[in-house]
Amino acid sequence: MTFDLRDAAISLSYIAAAVLFIFGLQRLSSPRTARSGNRLAAVGMFIALGATLLDRQILSFGLIAVGILIGAVVGVVSARRVKMTAMPQMVALFNGAGGATAALISLVEYLHLSHNGGVPGLVKVASVLGIAIGAISFSGSLIAFGKLQELLSSKPLKFPLQRLFNLALLVAVIVLGALVIMDRQGADALWIIFGITLLLGALATLAIGGGDMPVVIAVLNSMTGLATAITGLELNNEMLIVAGMLVGASGTLLTLLMSKAMNRSLANVLFSGFGGGAPAAAAGRATDATGLTARETTVEDTAVALAYARRVIVIPGYGLAVAQAQHDLASLCAELTRRGVDVKHAMHPVAGRMPGHMNVLLAEANVPYDQLVDMEQINSAFESTDVALVVGANDVVNPAAREDPSSPIYGMPILDADKAKLCIVLKRGMAAGFAGIDNALFYRPNTRMLFGDAKKTLSKLVEAIKTV
Ligand code: NDP
Repeated sequence: MTFDLRDAAISLSYIAAAVLFIFGLQRLSSPRTARSGNRLAAVGMFIALGATLLDRQILSFGLIAVGILIGAVVGVVSARRVKMTAMPQMVALFNGAGGATAALISLVEYLHLSHNGGVPGLVKVASVLGIAIGAISFSGSLIAFGKLQELLSSKPLKFPLQRLFNLALLVAVIVLGALVIMDRQGADALWIIFGITLLLGALATLAIGGGDMPVVIAVLNSMTGLATAITGLELNNEMLIVAGMLVGASGTLLTLLMSKAMNRSLANVLFSGFGGGAPAAAAGRATDATGLTARETTVEDTAVALAYARRVIVIPGYGLAVAQAQHDLASLCAELTRRGVDVKHAMHPVAGRMPGHMNVLLAEANVPYDQLVDMEQINSAFESTDVALVVGANDVVNPAAREDPSSPIYGMPILDADKAKLCIVLKRGMAAGFAGIDNALFYRPNTRMLFGDAKKTLSKLVEAIKTV
């Protein structure tokens, strides 16, 4: 056995890259360390790419250079231009590109080997799986992008017997795949599998409401990871296997976390057609089913309550993003902090419409990281809090999730804003949130409603507080 320095260097570089990916991912778990985590992972990717270029089997460095150049330009320009709120769309597009790449590599590797003496059994299985999973991820991600970008309707698009039709497509893919693996069919069948799975990914995603797209993107992300790991098996490349498994595992964990935080099963997200656009405004009324009435307050009274509070917990929600009021909220909190009020922001894992939505918004407005506290840590603090200021949040503070077993969101973890001495809710009217249900919090004796667009209300509050 001879020792090959080049092979050893490639293997060691791959191990270094994998370690950097893992530490990078770990650092992404806190806003404080996320930037350095991103940098670590980027260095890992750089090392992995460099090591791959040492491979003796590379046919054309010129073509690779052109690919890297195009990819780098598209990546840098889009990452710089994209608005924070359009991040899910961009993730969907990048994820789709990963799925398409995995599918095409699987196809090309099969064609390459079949023209050069025969395809080993493992590669046949990997080709079928890589093409099918990669293509579903590609077309599904494009539809998810279209829905989030509002190029397509956010309503679930369904037709009669759709599930049966999708099942028939899946069965066709399984039969064709089995024929390829048994050597009864070749490349033509793989092209057909590619076409059918493209259609399947698109139809399955079209049938899901726009609001659920972030969960769908997490699912598709884990599929892309799996397809990438499969192509790694096909090409005998450890780096692709490790990177693919990391993407697959993190996508799966994110999917499970999101489903748990929404108190819905993954099957309910994928097959129920929930989350199809704006909720019915009629769901919320000024008076609840038992005749309790929501009480209004004014900017002036709220300013006084906030200015004289010892502890304030802000609960940001989807309405903060809609109103783009993060800078006004940051100004209000800075003013309160200046006055000696202890201000914290309570972060619910599914507040807004994408994972980390509120973290991104508040980071954009330079809210100090130490003011952001996760749900599990902050919930016990509400009882000793003078004012819970709910800004455009609704479902994530609905006590029905804790108290009403008949509620559709019963069991969903929520922020206990109702336990604060005073709870002030900033929203435009009595409309429901994403889940489309009334909110018992609005009718509690310690709750006051401050109606209006969050941006306007917050900027008025900043002015009013200066006069208190
Ligand atoms: P909600 O969707 O429950 O409520 C948002 C509220 O904001 C509405 O009731 C609306 O009331 C108010 N609002 C809208 N625009 C404005 C504005 N300009 N100014 C002031 N208020 C406004 O938001 P939450 O963040 O509480 O909950 C998120 C929901 O989304 C959960 O049900 C979650 O499961 C779901 N979801 C979350 C995902 C995620 O990854 N984060 C993914 C998919 C779904 P009004 O119109 O009266 O102003």
